[in-house]
Amino acid sequence: MKKLLVLLLFLSVVTLHAEKFSLVGATVINPADSKVMPNATVVINGDKIERVAMGKQDATTLGKQIPCVGKFILPGYIDTHVHFFQSADLFTRPDGADFNSVRPYKDEVAWIKSHLDDVFARYLRCGITSVVDDGGPLWNFEVRQKANATAKAPRVAVAGPLISSVSREKLDLGDPPIVKIDTPDQARGFVRKLVEQNPDFVKIWYIVDKDHPVDSFRPIARATIEESHAHKIRVMVHATELETARAAIEEGADILVHSVYDTPVDDAFVNLLKDHHTILCPTLVVFERYGRVFSHQLNFTTEEEKWGNPEVIASLDVTKIPQDKLPDRVKAALADPKTAMDRINKVYEVALPNLKKLEDAGVTIAAGTDAGNVGTIHGPALFREFQLMKQAGLTNMQILQCATANAAKLFGGETGAHIGTIDNGQFADLVILKSNPVDDIAHASDIDAVVKNGVLYPADSILASR
Ligand SMILES: [Zn+2]
Repeated sequence: MKKLLVLLLFLSVVTLHAEKFSLVGATVINPADSKVMPNATVVINGDKIERVAMGKQDATTLGKQIPCVGKFILPGYIDTHVHFFQSADLFTRPDGADFNSVRPYKDEVAWIKSHLDDVFARYLRCGITSVVDDGGPLWNFEVRQKANATAKAPRVAVAGPLISSVSREKLDLGDPPIVKIDTPDQARGFVRKLVEQNPDFVKIWYIVDKDHPVDSFRPIARATIEESHAHKIRVMVHATELETARAAIEEGADILVHSVYDTPVDDAFVNLLKDHHTILCPTLVVFERYGRVFSHQLNFTTEEEKWGNPEVIASLDVTKIPQDKLPDRVKAALADPKTAMDRINKVYEVALPNLKKLEDAGVTIAAGTDAGNVGTIHGPALFREFQLMKQAGLTNMQILQCATANAAKLFGGETGAHIGTIDNGQFADLVILKSNPVDDIAHASDIDAVVKNGVLYPADSILASR
């Protein structure tokens, strides 16, 4: 009897994975090597891709056949910069614009925690089958666990609290996402504490201003990186000025998580990134969204309007907030939207050519959005990022490579080695498109279906029950 129960249990677990099936007749696009295979068959067995082959196949080896003639199959997209502790709504960063009088921050965090399944599903709807959370409170590690236990969720890699030169009291509800570290010893101790949680990354928030020059934090960055590397954990660094970014890489940072936008990058910097095999994640979309939300110059894409959380998007209309509850920063932006827009354009005037230069030089660029920040919508923000990468001069194939194979390198670990490409033995994480994104990057969101972990979801079904 016990044996029978075990057997039944085993069978029910097995059937959670779809039976063997094949996607037949599509064009398979593998951005890793820019190969395009017409009339291809992708055989999926359990959670893995069993094989990919061109031309007519022996039907007895295919399992259930799903006709895909006229469709385009890519590896599932990967957003390598998101924050699950932020909703992207107006109230999510009281340290930047304090709306506690409209919505207390603790209510905001409670809402976020209760909507994680919703966020997960929105990623899947956008064909995003893996994401990297670039830092947040310790409960980030629970988010990773929850995502791993949820079928309709992306794979998740996480960093814990950000190690920084500055503190952000308004975000501290007892489990702060940002921790001020003052000495190298303190940094080593904090990294050792994080190691207990098995983080995928350690994150440094290298903030530089007149009170915090590059050199004063540098020994702390160095100690953080040394200690992390001693535990075989890679370090990602937020560094948006050229000299900060240079210092971070010289100290051994593995990943730069934004663009340099204060000044054009020089050849020495480009070579430094190449020599150190540093991966750069540009996060172009986040640079426009705070300014556009606060000055009410919203430019959401169709994808964001359709697949973003409607409550989040509705909150971003600052004109609905009573005047006396608007923070000064927002009042100023509303009174002078031109200045807000000029500031954004100035960032892009530097960041976009920098991205093009790094891409041309062969630096590994991984697509990422910084979703969760005010106005940067979890899921569809990636398609605005693609538009901006295009504006920077990247080809459509390069953009797709950044969002798949390169992003998988940033994701890293055992999982990173098995995502981002369509190949035998890789995880069956795929996006099936109705039109060709190599012709027009806008087609990257023309999604017919998504396969995650060997389970096929018709795109329209993913958010249907919401
Ligand atoms: Zn971030």
